[in-house]
Amino acid sequence: MKIICIGRNYVDHIEELGNERPESPVIFMKPDTALLKDNEPFYHPDHSEDVHHEVEVLVKIKKEGKSIDPAFASNYYDEIGLGIDFTARDTQSRLKTKGLPWELAKAFNGSAPISKFIDKKGFDLKNLNFRLEKNGEAVQQGNTSLMLWPIDEIIAFVSRYFTLKTGDIIFSGTPKGVSRVSIGDQLKGYIEDQLMFDFEVK
Ligand code: MG
Repeated sequence: MKIICIGRNYVDHIEELGNERPESPVIFMKPDTALLKDNEPFYHPDHSEDVHHEVEVLVKIKKEGKSIDPAFASNYYDEIGLGIDFTARDTQSRLKTKGLPWELAKAFNGSAPISKFIDKKGFDLKNLNFRLEKNGEAVQQGNTSLMLWPIDEIIAFVSRYFTLKTGDIIFSGTPKGVSRVSIGDQLKGYIEDQLMFDFEVK
């Protein structure tokens, strides 16, 4: 399986990092070795002094597809989840300055904790509230209505380049409020009022 992520999908987060608003989606991938499941702890890597949380809504692909029309994209997933796109911001800033790829900052071990997946029925994916709490305090609060590219458009775009396969996971971008995590932090993520994950930084 593969993990496909979109960057710069919320204007408020683009502004907080001083990035340019992209003309087309910013896409990167993480390997399966980035996954953390079942509330496993995140072990802070020693190659970064500034690992940031980015809470993001996920969808899990349920069948193979390529060049998917946006009008049919919703047929390719039944389940949604919540995850964190952990980002070594210090490394990413160095790479961005040099125009180099982001993998060392984005795709390291444990950089993709994911929740359980739940049926999308009963949720409005175009108007979904989600949030991240760090040590009991809400640090990121988002609503999918504020995405530049909604999930179905992300699926249409990426499937022109990469065949989507059953089990692939899409990270749909983070709203503002990213900040550093430290050893000992407890991270809890919610979709609406449903607790999706709860794990510790070790
Ligand atoms: Mg992200």
